[in-house]
Amino acid sequence: MSLVEHCRARVADIRAAERFRRRRVIGGAHGPEVVADDQRCINFCSNDYLGLAAHPALAERMARAAARVGTGSAASQLVTGHNAEHAALEAELADWVGRERALLFATGYAANVGVVSALTGKDDHIVADALNHASLIDGARLSGAAKHVYAHGDATAAGQRLADCAGGHRLLLTDSVFSMDGDTAPLAALADLAAHHDAWLAVDDAHGLGVFGPEGAGRVAEAGLDSARVPILLATLGKSVGAAGAFVAGDHDVIEAILQTARSLIFSTAPPPAVAAAAREGVAMARAGDDRRVRLMALIARFRAGAAQLGLPLGDSDSPIQPLIVGDEARALALSDALLERGYLVGAIRPPTVAPGTSRLRVTLTAGHSRDQVDGLLDALARAVDDIRCVSA
Ligand code: PMP
Repeated sequence: MSLVEHCRARVADIRAAERFRRRRVIGGAHGPEVVADDQRCINFCSNDYLGLAAHPALAERMARAAARVGTGSAASQLVTGHNAEHAALEAELADWVGRERALLFATGYAANVGVVSALTGKDDHIVADALNHASLIDGARLSGAAKHVYAHGDATAAGQRLADCAGGHRLLLTDSVFSMDGDTAPLAALADLAAHHDAWLAVDDAHGLGVFGPEGAGRVAEAGLDSARVPILLATLGKSVGAAGAFVAGDHDVIEAILQTARSLIFSTAPPPAVAAAAREGVAMARAGDDRRVRLMALIARFRAGAAQLGLPLGDSDSPIQPLIVGDEARALALSDALLERGYLVGAIRPPTVAPGTSRLRVTLTAGHSRDQVDGLLDALARAVDDIRCVSA
């Protein structure tokens, strides 16, 4: 079979399984309102939790930096790609999350794959939550370590898995806020377990940073877990910070070892310095963004109260990620389409991203939304659900 035939057959299989996914072209800026494939709609599927992704202050800072230092970093960090903007951003990130040092990566995917595979090898054990982000799963695969998956959010099960590990190092690996469910890992209990079993705890705070904790320092900071308890802290800059990239933060020696050995960093061009400049502005605004966090929390509460009144089955989440569990894939898609017809963009999340039978609408709220927009979404949801009769409340 030729390559073309092989690929055509693969895509046909994906279509037959009704798992074909189409990209939309977003015209113009990202925000609570977007133009998607030429249709203006209210956007409830972005991770721009603080509404900074299209903020003029970030854009100006990025443009100024680009004019000063250019657009390309031209080499990997360990060659000549590490610009003063990157160095300053790393220092500011470390200060924000209360760690000795932070190390930048071009994306969260690269950070997670690189960090997990740098810290563990084939003689080691990785104990991981069943719903961890794909990048953590891929990092674990790449490491060659033995993998032990525990039931989502179940600290007792995590303890049992840790107790089963014999020899080698033990890495306990979890998201803080889970990306498709919006719920939070039992971080303090996991930190206790890690201490008890002599394991290293790594937490991906991608969806907690900027949203929770003092100055938005994240869910780990909110739980008061310092580097002795969470020695490996990961987070991204493309969500609440409004830019792109990611970082790992921890003690000096941990970060140095990662810098020397993480292949996704060593063999990859550093992110553009101008993006780091935008992230610096985003970090400053996120730290000073209590007003945005207050607005966001009020919108989350409003959405949850409205959904409860309508009898819509939301997941157990206090975060900006509010999943409406639908179950059936086709129904989740139909609901998403019906919302778009009414001018609301909400993603249907289906297998393989989530387990079969748990397809959902992933509603995400941002500080940039208005109360009217949230009320409008609730109204549209009520009508769409009524039309499709697809949600088993
Ligand atoms: N971790 C989590 C929990 C995520 O949800 C994501 C992606 N949204 C990533 C890591 C990857 O980050 P990035 O998009 O910067 O590659």
